[in-house]
Parts: sequence; structure tokens; C-alpha cells
Amino acid sequence: MADHPRFGPAGVPPMFRFAKATLSDVPILLREEGLDAFEYEAVHWGKKPQVKRVDAEQLGLKAKENDVWLSLHGSYFINLCGEKAIVEASKRRLIACATAAEWMKGHVVVFHPGFYGGKSRGEAFKLCLEALKEVVEDLQSQGVTNVKVGPETMGRLYQLGSLDEILSLCEIVERTQLVIDWSHLHAREGGCLNTVDDFRRTVLKIENRLGTEAVENMHCHFTKIEFTAQGEKRHHALLEKRYGPDFRKLAKVIAEFRLRPVIISESPILDLDAVRMRDILQEEWDNS
Ligand SMILES: [Zn+2]
Repeated sequence: MADHPRFGPAGVPPMFRFAKATLSDVPILLREEGLDAFEYEAVHWGKKPQVKRVDAEQLGLKAKENDVWLSLHGSYFINLCGEKAIVEASKRRLIACATAAEWMKGHVVVFHPGFYGGKSRGEAFKLCLEALKEVVEDLQSQGVTNVKVGPETMGRLYQLGSLDEILSLCEIVERTQLVIDWSHLHAREGGCLNTVDDFRRTVLKIENRLGTEAVENMHCHFTKIEFTAQGEKRHHALLEKRYGPDFRKLAKVIAEFRLRPVIISESPILDLDAVRMRDILQEEWDNS
């Protein structure tokens, strides 16, 4: 669990790429920006890790040296609520992502649980739950024993991933890490996070269901978000005034309860907004 609130980007920032940085340069560059978390994006992966083990291990080493907290965002091609063949292929993709995360000594493999398809929510949830339990058992038997699996709150109404569903998965399945994408939550519920109290109520609900330790150690995604009646439409930068949610309101609640989440910026300007969020939280922390 993180020792203090941490911030970092989802994926390699564009400026790093522009400067021709390699993967193992990323931690020191983040440290130079005053950031201390990094989510490796494995979002287009298939059934095998698409990073060399030696490169993954090197990233892990450099992250440790530079005090950067590592996580890995799993493949988008995962649907644990589909037909049998789809679920089996999805399990293999999730296991491939978890294996690479383990090579990196990453703390969590974040993933999108799946789609309701034609099924009822209850039916889809049951399939997802069983598949996720099997993934955790398979990881254990394959010797992938450290990385946690992190089902994420999802932004579209056709995706499994309401707050209640994610909390239920985390309640029931071993080795899970709660992943709260605040923007998804906001978009899915038609813009539900407007006041400090909206954030506070969500945090208290999580604490009620999963306990203090889980709420203190949330893994979070944050960006501003545009949405329609179907949910999430597009991510926006923090300074974009037209869209919510407002990070400062979450920061007030983090400071109030002295939480220590890892907060990954999924803004279009990744690391720059991670720095901005870090500074906002520091102000609120010092003032509370
Ligand atoms: Zn995600």
C-alpha cells in the first residue's frame, strides 16, 4: 500500500517520447517532475505479454530506484461476462497482463470487467465473478503471487462496472484491489460528483463496504470528462472549465480523511495534469 498520496500518468507522456526516452528512462523523468507513480499501458495486448521480460524487469528496477509506484492497465480486449470462448480468451489476456505486471513488480493490474451484452446485470455479474475467481486461482498456480487484480468502475452504461458491482467483486474475490475511476463514475451516473459532499458520501460508502484500509489505499484514475445519456464520451484536461468533476473537491476529502491513494492522470496532457493534481492536494492537505 502506498505510504502517501501518489500521482503519475497513464502511459508514457508525449514529451518523453519526443525526447526519445526508453521505457526504463520513464521513472527518473517522472521523478524529475516530482511525480511518483506510473501506469504502464498494456491496453492493446492479446494473450501473451507484449513487453520483453528483461525490459519489464528493468522498468521495475528503475521504478524502485526512483520511488515510482508501478501499476499496469490491462488489455481492453477483456470481457469476463461473455460467451464461454470469449471468457476463456479474456482470462488468458488478463493473466498475460498480470504476469508482465509481476515482472515489473507492479502493484496492480487494472482491468475493465466486461459488457452486459444481452444478459441481465445479475447474470453478467455472476459470470464475471466466477471468471475472476478462476483468474486469481490460475495466477496463484502459475506462481504469479504478488500483483493484485483491480476491477475498475466503468463509464458507459453497457459496461459492467457500477460502483456497487466493483465493490461486490472486491468483497468476494481474494487479491483484488479497488480501482475507482472518478470520471467514469461521474459520467455513468449522469454527473453525480458535483459537491465535496458527493465525494465524501462515495468515500464513506466504500469504507462501509470494504473497510478503512481499502478506502485509504484506493487506486484511482482521474480526468475531466464529457458524457451523454449513455455515459462517457471524451476525456478533457483539468483546466477545461466546462466539464467535471472538479479535482479540488476530491482533494478536500482525501485531505480530510488523510487517505493515501495512488492517482493516475488519464487527462489528454497526462503528466502535466498529474503535477497539477499533486499541487492541488498539497494545498488542501496543508490547509486541513
Ligand atoms: Zn481503464
